[in-house]
Amino acid sequence: MRRAIFPGSFDPFTIGHADIVRRALPLFDEIVIAVGINYNKQSLFSLEERIKMIEKAFANEKKVRVQTYSGLTVDFAKQIEARYLLRGVRSTIDFEYEKTMADANRELSHGQLETVLLYASPQYAHVSSTLVRDLHSHQHDITPYIP
Ligand code: ADP
Repeated sequence: MRRAIFPGSFDPFTIGHADIVRRALPLFDEIVIAVGINYNKQSLFSLEERIKMIEKAFANEKKVRVQTYSGLTVDFAKQIEARYLLRGVRSTIDFEYEKTMADANRELSHGQLETVLLYASPQYAHVSSTLVRDLHSHQHDITPYIP
């Protein structure tokens, strides 16, 4: 069973996130979209809203599940028996960050969690949750950026 975890804040889940999941589907038997609960970070969309938005986007996709977690991603990955950690890379900034995280997670999991990175599709490389939150807080239409 090739199970991957796709962790993130997803505040909110964007068309860029959805694109990464769709493109990764042929690689895995199951992808668990794991919405991280960070008690120190104020989110714009509630946990319930974020989950609902993701569930709706993948309602017809049997290989995708949505779960929430708190604590370390490695611990949650172990708990759900996921051996692969899926992430997206938009820029060199993402790359540097993802490299550090991948190295740390491989070490913390004693080699049991392998990070798989997909490059952002060029048409979505500028899309971020931050952009969507900014648009939303200034009463702009966010529908082009969310699935
Ligand atoms: P986190 O708060 O953990 O960085 P995010 O919700 O911002 O979580 O993003 C989760 C993952 O999705 C990260 O690997 C991020 O680089 C990737 N990602 C975000 N936006 C895009 C996009 N437009 N295209 C491809 N990957 C993306």
